[in-house]
Amino acid sequence: APHTPPRPILALPDQLISQIAAGEVVDRPAAVVKELLENALDAGATQVTIRLEEGGVKRIAITDNGRGIPPDQMPLALARHATSKIASLSDLENVGTLGFRGEALASIASVAQVTLTSRTADADHAWEISGNQDGQVTPSSGALGTTVDVRDLYYNTPARRKFLKSDQTEYGHCAEVVRRIALSRPDVAFSLSHNGKTVDHWNVSEIEKRSAMILGGEFATARLPLDENSGQLRLHGFVGLPTASKARADSQYFYVNGRFVRDKLLAHAVRAAYQDVLHGDRYPCYVLSLELDPALVDVNVHPSKIEVRFRDGRAVHQFIFHAVSRALAQTSATSFGATPA
Ligand code: ADP
Ligand code: MG
Repeated sequence: APHTPPRPILALPDQLISQIAAGEVVDRPAAVVKELLENALDAGATQVTIRLEEGGVKRIAITDNGRGIPPDQMPLALARHATSKIASLSDLENVGTLGFRGEALASIASVAQVTLTSRTADADHAWEISGNQDGQVTPSSGALGTTVDVRDLYYNTPARRKFLKSDQTEYGHCAEVVRRIALSRPDVAFSLSHNGKTVDHWNVSEIEKRSAMILGGEFATARLPLDENSGQLRLHGFVGLPTASKARADSQYFYVNGRFVRDKLLAHAVRAAYQDVLHGDRYPCYVLSLELDPALVDVNVHPSKIEVRFRDGRAVHQFIFHAVSRALAQTSATSFGATPA
């Protein structure tokens, strides 16, 4: 059969590029919450307020008391591939901030109605910008820090909107993201509301108290503290006793350099350490933080940065396995009621 003539290759318009990227970066309201919270923490905030409406689909408004954005930079904050966090490849390889891709706000702004309001310490008042990077920056009011107000997620991408679950389900995912981040930063106060009602409020506290508030009092009375160093690696946090295990893997919090991750290698190392004290159908509870030289771990594996890749995965696996095993050995397996496997 004869070929149809080739279609011309066209450069995509910016808005469409962002909408395509948004498919990966902001696949649901919870992803918006994650990106905005990470920005707040990267800005040095000590207090963060999260207001959600209708599962975050109608509105996600996050206010922080961080360093703010100067008015002349506000359009750039909404521009693609514009970031204040890295400037070179060596910065990328040693990245210490949660963000660095410079695409979250641009992606969000391409699929929702965004207003950014911000005030820096040396400004007499706040400024705001709505829409995208082409919006006007106008005087506004507000305290030191930043508010990002995201309304009507996917209003212009109906196909994607159809993939959203019920408000309650979407809200549940948003709340889980808030818990993950709140657990990683007990030195920051968080407040979460849904449909005008305050759901959670966590004051600045020690990790002991923050984790008890988030994982429940039961975990607080049945956990072993852990803090181990080996060469370039440090693992600290808490592992739950087998008595505090659950039928679902919903209380497993693992952080790498402050970032919540879901990683097979890490989960396997912890699981293996529990092998002799926990039945195969039970899931341990834990809050663990691995700290290592940022150059030894690649966080730029996936746009959501939930996966990581270690330069020496074997060494990391062994270290975690041994550290968790030693913590669990503090008490003999039988004394906390585990049935031998
Ligand atoms: P990234 O976080 O990867 O840099 P974003 O699109 O999330 O990309 O944000 C773009 C830029 O906007 C950031 O680099 C930062 O300078 C600025 N910014 C975003 N949110 C905030 C905030 N809450 N406070 C201060 N600056 C912010
Ligand atoms: Mg960001």
